[in-house]
Amino acid sequence: MNEDCIFCRIVAGKLPSSRVYEDDSTLAFLDINPVEKGHTLVIPKAHHDPLTAVPPELLQKVILSVQKVARGVFAATNADGMNINQANGKSAGQVIPHVHFHLIPRFDRDEPHRNWAPGKYSSQDEMAACAAAIADRIKKQE
Ligand code: 5GP
Ligand code: ZN
Repeated sequence: MNEDCIFCRIVAGKLPSSRVYEDDSTLAFLDINPVEKGHTLVIPKAHHDPLTAVPPELLQKVILSVQKVARGVFAATNADGMNINQANGKSAGQVIPHVHFHLIPRFDRDEPHRNWAPGKYSSQDEMAACAAAIADRIKKQE
């Protein structure tokens, strides 16, 4: 546990939270400042950050909890859609550096939500080089 981490303190019961689900390695609770009512956070109980540093077996458990909790949020809120958002780093909007997934119910009454503006590559070559660079780094992990 990281004493300086708000989410670790929630896991330990040192801070209150509205829990909706937990198992041996994951916890889900309501976001204190919901984008929509029912906005839920799913976290590993152990302190890890960013996503790329989470042990794979634990990350599998977290994503299975995300799916289970998402079903509950859909059913309880009658949401038409859901954004599942996960930020890494300040530049991505992350405030609490303990890996978490936001489950945000969405409704057809609203404008569709997209949190990015589409851009363009300057050429097919630039796009191919970008794909090759990423593919190369992935291969080096194997
Ligand atoms: P981030 O920007 O790091 O992806 O999201 C952190 C989220 O944690 C925010 O949506 C914020 O409202 C939520 N949050 C911050 N402090 C607390 C807290 O003490 N309790 C709960 N339940 N949520 C919190
Ligand atoms: Zn933590």
